[in-house]
Amino acid sequence: MENSKVFHVFPNEPRPPYVDRAEGVYIYTKDGQKLLDITSGGNHYAVLGWAHPEVNKAMEIQIKKFGHMDYKLWSNENTEELADVLISRAEHGLDRVYFGGNAGSEACEVAMKMSYQVHHDTGKTKKIWFISREQSYHGSTADALALGERPNLEFFRQMLSPYRARIPMHHPLYLQRDGETIDDYARRSAKELEDKILEIGPDYVCGFVGETIMGGLVGDVPPAPNYWKYIRDVCNKYDIHLILDEVYCGTGTSGKIYCCDWDKVRPDFIFIGKTLAAGYGALSAVITSKEIEDVIKNGQGRLQHTTTFQAHSLGVAAALAVQKLIHNDELLQHVNELGEYMRKTLTDELGSHPFFRDLRGRGLRFSLEYQCENQHEFGNQLQKVMLEKHNILINAKWHRICFTPALILKKSEAELAMEKLVEQFISLSSSFR
Ligand code: PMP
Repeated sequence: MENSKVFHVFPNEPRPPYVDRAEGVYIYTKDGQKLLDITSGGNHYAVLGWAHPEVNKAMEIQIKKFGHMDYKLWSNENTEELADVLISRAEHGLDRVYFGGNAGSEACEVAMKMSYQVHHDTGKTKKIWFISREQSYHGSTADALALGERPNLEFFRQMLSPYRARIPMHHPLYLQRDGETIDDYARRSAKELEDKILEIGPDYVCGFVGETIMGGLVGDVPPAPNYWKYIRDVCNKYDIHLILDEVYCGTGTSGKIYCCDWDKVRPDFIFIGKTLAAGYGALSAVITSKEIEDVIKNGQGRLQHTTTFQAHSLGVAAALAVQKLIHNDELLQHVNELGEYMRKTLTDELGSHPFFRDLRGRGLRFSLEYQCENQHEFGNQLQKVMLEKHNILINAKWHRICFTPALILKKSEAELAMEKLVEQFISLSSSFR
């Protein structure tokens, strides 16, 4: 539209296409295209695809009853049930859910504030520093941004809190040294955290924040075995909260409801977002424990964080329907099996290709890393050709293709996407070195 008054993110570029409707894993555009989306909405949130009849129905029922009702003033049976569902398969044993907001970024800041308040209310008022890792992403609001390291957002750095510090990313492929075992590397990574804590002073450090698997930027890097155990030990030693970001890898996407349950670690806080209501609503939450709640009860008696639309009734109705579908053995088995099938296909077909570097991840959160000259351009072109020739949406940029399909992707759809991807990867590679 020539005279659009919408302020777009990329104002110099042509307007993105209009969507007519979306159903399952397909997007139908106004200009008549049917696209197979294996990114689940570009931003990996549409984990049940679109227009799921059960989720739509739950939202219709809710809107006929009432729209949003304030979280502080009213209770909502759906919210109670959603909390029960969210902890029903939690192997880590956390048992309280605070529905703090709508976005993942907000949930990150809610977890930071809860962590600060807990230390504050137990007399540790100097704990104001948070430590995170390079190459991570926790959101785009100011404090979430302060923790992350996203190249295009670095120019904001000077306006952000100075009480934030970063240690190197945890990435065995890149950072494990020659002669070092994977366990040595895991211990060294935890030592980097300890060194940073000692540098700042343990009395000043509040929490360590990390994505359970380093996700969207570096491309789905599961930690070394025992990495989170060693990090947990360091946090315990210095009375620092362990805060895990599962906005990207939570709610079943890794093949377990909580990605950290693969690592058998009990954090103090986990925050989740986009996959919680899967795009049917906007909802985020912090999962924590009764012990943390008790500190607030016995301290200031109120949690010092609220927002108008926290636990939005429609988002909660959507999330409850979404999470009931995800908290299901058969679906989780499908996630694990389909992920394994896709990774095996890619290894069989591309494992010996000169551009192939690595394939890693969990469940339906995994990445293929490639290496060639102009690799960013290689990714761009691969993405473009998949769309233009095959009507398939993939996410390829920098050095990797991130696979984040909806959990309901069928094997036949995955087969088609893999076949076309392998074909285009090989054919395009002849124009690159
Ligand atoms: N953490 C991680 C790991 C994410 O991937 C994202 C979103 N890409 C966020 C936090 C922030 O979520 P939101 O964009 O909903 O604020």
